[in-house]
Amino acid sequence: MNANFLQTPIDYLKGVGPNRADLLKKELGIHTFQDLLNLFPNRYLDRTQYYKIAQLQQTNAEVQIIGKITHIKTVEQKRGKRLVATFVDETGSMELVWFRGQKWIRENLKINVPYVIFGKTNFFNDTFSMPHPEMELLETHEKSIRSAMQPVYPSTEKLTNSGITNRVINSLMQQLFIESKNAFSESLSKTILNELKLVSKKEALFNIHFPKSHAHLARAQYRLKFEELFYIQLQLIRKNLIHKSKIKGYTFEKIGHNFNTFFSEHLPFNLTEAQKRVIKEIRNDLGSNAQMNRLLQGDVGSGKTIVALMSMLIALDNGFQACLMAPTEILSVQHYQGLTKLCKKLNTSIELLTGSTKTSKRREIHKKLENGELNILIGTHALLEDKVKFKNLGLAIVDEQHRFGVAQRSKLWHKNEYPPHVLVMTATPIPRTLAMSVYGDLDISVIDELPPGRKDIKTVHRFDSNRLKVFRFIKDEISKGRQVYIVYPLIQESETMDYKDLMDGYESIVREFPPHGPGPNYQVSIVHGQMKPADKDYEMSRFVNGETQIMVATTVIEVGVNVPNASVMVIESAERFGLSQLHQLRGRVGRGAEQSYCILMTGHKLSADAKTRLETMVRTSDGFEIAEVDLKLRGPGDIMGTQQSGVLNLRIADIVKDSEILKIARSYASQTLKADPNLSSEENIPLKEAYSQLVKYRNIWNYIS
Ligand code: ADP
Ligand code: MG
Repeated sequence: MNANFLQTPIDYLKGVGPNRADLLKKELGIHTFQDLLNLFPNRYLDRTQYYKIAQLQQTNAEVQIIGKITHIKTVEQKRGKRLVATFVDETGSMELVWFRGQKWIRENLKINVPYVIFGKTNFFNDTFSMPHPEMELLETHEKSIRSAMQPVYPSTEKLTNSGITNRVINSLMQQLFIESKNAFSESLSKTILNELKLVSKKEALFNIHFPKSHAHLARAQYRLKFEELFYIQLQLIRKNLIHKSKIKGYTFEKIGHNFNTFFSEHLPFNLTEAQKRVIKEIRNDLGSNAQMNRLLQGDVGSGKTIVALMSMLIALDNGFQACLMAPTEILSVQHYQGLTKLCKKLNTSIELLTGSTKTSKRREIHKKLENGELNILIGTHALLEDKVKFKNLGLAIVDEQHRFGVAQRSKLWHKNEYPPHVLVMTATPIPRTLAMSVYGDLDISVIDELPPGRKDIKTVHRFDSNRLKVFRFIKDEISKGRQVYIVYPLIQESETMDYKDLMDGYESIVREFPPHGPGPNYQVSIVHGQMKPADKDYEMSRFVNGETQIMVATTVIEVGVNVPNASVMVIESAERFGLSQLHQLRGRVGRGAEQSYCILMTGHKLSADAKTRLETMVRTSDGFEIAEVDLKLRGPGDIMGTQQSGVLNLRIADIVKDSEILKIARSYASQTLKADPNLSSEENIPLKEAYSQLVKYRNIWNYIS
C-alpha cells in the first residue's frame, strides 16, 4: 500500500459525504484515510461470552444471553405503553422491554425460537430486564462472520446526534479495509518483528478494529503500542544525536589546576560512587565538541552541589566563566556561602547576584563579568537580566529543584556567541519512564546514592487527636537540643484561609511552648509568604543560629534552608500536600548526625489517594519510588516539571501502564540508531519510510500538547 493512498482526504471514502467529512474533521480530527485508520477503539463489547440468566449480576454491564421468548404483552402506563417480552433460558427468566417501535417488534418477534440477545440489564422488583436489546436469531448468529469483539470508537455528542453512530464509524472502517484490501505496509524491521515476536502491521491493524479473539486483540495492541513508543523514542534520540552533531560547544580539553587542586587537596569528603560516575559523564560531555545539554537528577541531600562545583572548575580550567542559577534568594545565598567556603583556598573569584544586590555592587559585578575578572556568578533569575553580560560563559548550571524552565535555559544561551554547556539539576525525581519520554532529547545523569552515614528518617502518620502525644515528643527532642519544623499548607486558591490556619497554629504552638513562665521555655520562629523579605530573613536566621527551637512555616521553607540540627519535621494537614512536596519537606531534616523524624498530621477523613500518599511516605524514602507512585496517582500531566515541557499525547500506549513496553522500545530505538544512524540499510527500509512519513505528517510536536 503506498503512503499516498492513506493520505487521501476522508471525503473520498465511500459513505462519507461533505457533511460527514466536515464532522469527522471537526469532531475527531480525521482528515485522511490514515487518520481514520488510526482511530483506535476505546473499548470492545465482548460478544465472546454467553451468560445464563441465573448468572446475571447487578453491574449494568453489557451481556449476551441465549434464550427464547415465551410471551409478549403490552403494558399500559401513565407515560405511554411499553412492550414487555418474557425471555427464558434453562436457568431462569427475565424481561425484554421496548418503549419505541413496538408495532414492528411485535409483528416480527418469534415465539419459542432461540435468540441471542445483547445489551445492558437493569434490576428491578427482583427481576432483570433488558431495554431495547440487540437481537438475532441464534441460527443467523451462528452463521455470521462478524467479529466477536465489537469495537467502541471514541465519539462526541455532536457526532452521535448527527447520526454518525458507532455503527456508522464501524462501517466506514470496514469500507476503508475493503478499499485498501488490507494492504498496509509494514513499518517495523524484520529483526524487530522477529526478536519481539510482534504481529505484522496488517494483522495488528485488522485486529485492533475487528479482533477475532481476546488473544488476537492483545497481540495487536502490544504491537501498536510498541510501534507508537518506538517512533517517539526514535525521534527523540535522533533529535539528540542531531543536536550533538550540529550544535557545537566549547571543548574543555584540560583538567587543570583548579579541578586537580580541589580534587586532591580540598575535597571535604570522599565522593560517592554515584557522584564520581556523574562527574565522569559530565567531563565526557564537556570534553567533546558538542554542547552539553544534561539533566542531573538527584534526591534531596544526594550531593549535587559538589558535582556542580567540580564541573564549574573544569570550565575555569579552560579559561571560561561559569554560572549557577537557583530559584530563590535563600538558596542562592546558601550556594554562594557554601561554594565560597569550598573554594577558599583556590584562586577563584565568586560573586552573588540577586534581586537585593545593591546597585553599586551590581555595577561592579557587571564590570568584572565583562572583563573576565569574575569566574563564577551565583544568583537568582537576576542572572537573566539583559545587563548581565559574560565575557565567556562556558557552563551554565541551573539548580531548579522542582521547577523546570525550559525557556529560562534557552535564554542563557544568548549570553555569548556560542551556547554554553548546560547542566540542569533537579531534586524532584522524575520517574524514569516519564523522563525517558518527555526529556528523551536530554542526556540524563542520576545520583542514586546518598552520602554514607545518613540515617533513615523515621516517618509516621498521626491523627490530629493524638496531638498532645506529638507535642510531648517534640518537647523531648528539644530537651535533647534538637530543633523542629512545623509546616502548614499553603495552597493558592485559599490563601487567606491557609494564612488563618497558619496563624491559629502559631498561636497554639506558642501557648504550648511558652517563652516564659514555669517549666522549660521556648522560642518560636515564624516564616510565611506574606512577610517582608527582611523579616523572613531575620526569623530564618534566628532558627539557623539556634536562637529559636521551633520554626512554624508555610511551604516557603521547602527549598533551600539547611539546618543540620533540625531533626523533626511536623507536617500539618499532610493530606493536602502532594507527594513530591511531602518528600521535599521531609528532606529538610536528616541532614545532621542525629536520628530524624517526620510526622504527618491529618484528620480522620482521608480520601483513598490521600491514604496512598501517606502510606507511601511512611513506607519509603526513595524519591524515585515516590515519584512513580505520584505518576500513577496523578497521571503524567500533573507531575511537577512536566507542565512546561509538554505531556505526551498518545494514541494507544499509556506511559504509566506501558512503561515496560516503553523501556523495550527505547532500547530498540537506540540500538537501531547506533547501528544505522540514517536508517539507510536495506533492513531498515520500512523504518525509514515510516519515519519520514511520521516526520512529514505527524511530527513529534504533535504528540506534545
Ligand atoms: P543536594 O543534592 O540536595 O543539593 P547537597 O549538595 O546540598 O545536596 O549535599 C547535601 C549535604 O551532603 C551537604 O552538606 C554536603 O556537604 C554533603 N555531602 C555531599 N556529598 C557528600 C559525600 N560524598 N560525603 C559526605 N557528605 C556529602
Ligand atoms: Mg541542592
